Amino acid sequence: MSRIRGKDTQPELAVRRLLHAMGFRFRLHRRDLPGTPDIVLPGRRKAIFVHGCFWHGHGCGCARLPKSRIEYWGPKIAANRARDGRKAAALRREGWSVAAVWECQLRKPAALERRLARFLDA
Ligand SMILES: [Zn+2]
Repeated sequence: MSRIRGKDTQPELAVRRLLHAMGFRFRLHRRDLPGTPDIVLPGRRKAIFVHGCFWHGHGCGCARLPKSRIEYWGPKIAANRARDGRKAAALRREGWSVAAVWECQLRKPAALERRLARFLDA
């Protein structure tokens, strides 16, 4: 089980490479914004969080909870999900558009690119 948390995770680096290839300029980990979003496009007022499927409880099936110590992981992941929701809500209150990119979506880069283009150009 890989630990997907904190700054500069592999999925985060992959999203940054993709955005860069698409020609977008962005800032990272803006601490002055609610929730310190992973990727920020200040001119467009867009914020992106990159979530590891396991730690953030994505229901995609690619990050099943381990059978052991479920009493430990379960509440931790639930707390992460609640925190993610609070961060996005706080940003939206300040007029930001917020998107989440999930680790598993990086397996289909063309689809992710289309989605990000829609989000960022909207
Ligand atoms: Zn997923």
